[in-house]
Amino acid sequence: MSFDHPLPTGCSATPVLKERGQREVFCGLTSIIWLHRKMQDAFFLVVGSRTCAHLLQSAAGVMIFAEPRFGTAILEEKDLAGLADANAELDREVGRLLERRPDIRQLFLVGSCPSEVIKLDLARAAERLNSAHAPHVRVYNYSGSGIETTFTQGEDACLAAMVPSLEETDAEELLVIGALPDVVEDQCSALLAAMGITSVRMLPARRSTNIPRIGRNTRFILTQPFLGDTAAALTKRGAQRIEAPFPFGEEGTTLWLKAVAACFDVPEATFEAATAAPRARAQKAVAAHRETLEGKSLFLFPDSQMEIPLARFLARECGMRPLEIGTPYLHRALTEPELSLLPYGPTLSEGQDVDLQLERHARLAPDLTVCGLGLANPLEAAGFTTKWAIELVFTPVHFYEQAGDLAGLFSRPLRRRALLSTEGRP
Ligand code: SF4
Repeated sequence: MSFDHPLPTGCSATPVLKERGQREVFCGLTSIIWLHRKMQDAFFLVVGSRTCAHLLQSAAGVMIFAEPRFGTAILEEKDLAGLADANAELDREVGRLLERRPDIRQLFLVGSCPSEVIKLDLARAAERLNSAHAPHVRVYNYSGSGIETTFTQGEDACLAAMVPSLEETDAEELLVIGALPDVVEDQCSALLAAMGITSVRMLPARRSTNIPRIGRNTRFILTQPFLGDTAAALTKRGAQRIEAPFPFGEEGTTLWLKAVAACFDVPEATFEAATAAPRARAQKAVAAHRETLEGKSLFLFPDSQMEIPLARFLARECGMRPLEIGTPYLHRALTEPELSLLPYGPTLSEGQDVDLQLERHARLAPDLTVCGLGLANPLEAAGFTTKWAIELVFTPVHFYEQAGDLAGLFSRPLRRRALLSTEGRP
């Protein structure tokens, strides 16, 4: 399946600067925050340390008011020293949890740095617990450890873990992959329905009763650029990936929908009728921010793995000038349609050596820096204007109706900085 676009070159042939030094990123446990909101009958049980529990609780502080859908089974010193049978304790804790919470239908055992260090076999634990608690509860396992990962990989690992157990089907269906906020998922379904595509399933589904089935007639499309392992697992099950840019901004959304339309033989007139009005709304909403963003230089530190599609959106729709686009991993197969659209010029870097990158950043002195929380405060203190990359996964940013909000995430810090400098003048 191929994808047609008007610019054949862009950054596809740009050499990539690869760095393997110290990194400043959150671990994969972070993704539990948005995954647990999406999957309403799932529970995420982190098998980790008090540090893991603190990370989760501070990232999702609001959940203390509700019956939470995540928790941490804390490995104590005697577990880490191998003096206790961590498996027996885990079975006991899971038994207690499921007895107390009959609403849980999917349980994810999430590995962490400590569970990996003591080589606790969570795959076997999941198998064992599955036989004990099926069919009421389905138990999966994946790793959210911070050893060699970045925070969005948690979602990829979670979804990839579900793929092997998806039931088989011969139905011709479209599978949309990625944990979209419900309101955005509804907009996506409505756009597809307006194009006449109604056999649509989502992974992850809101509830376990809607978990999709899969087979060789399944076509799937990603909504996030960080779902490489999930894409590989789906392809292994015979499903076919629809190649497209990601649905960020008016252009990204239109090209994403066009790729689906081409696959399902949607007539041009139907496509136009379904997309004309929301496209116009998105263009207008982005234009309101373009004035602030146009001509401003941009530096993206590697963090969310969304950097390449975002840079494409900010360059092509908002007129920004990307200087360096860093990404933790450059997944060529998934990002090629993006790279070919991205205007030629910026440095592309993969991985991180934070000190060297900070030196490049200081030399280039960009107008706007997109980075992780750990770098944002010191950079702000040094006079730079920053945007936290993690907001991009907590804020609805996909498809037409969010295009203006997406541009707003980047124009707001620039406006705030301009205001502060005006106020600071005598
Ligand atoms: S998984 Fe590792 S990096 Fe993440 S909070 Fe736990 S110890 Fe820290």
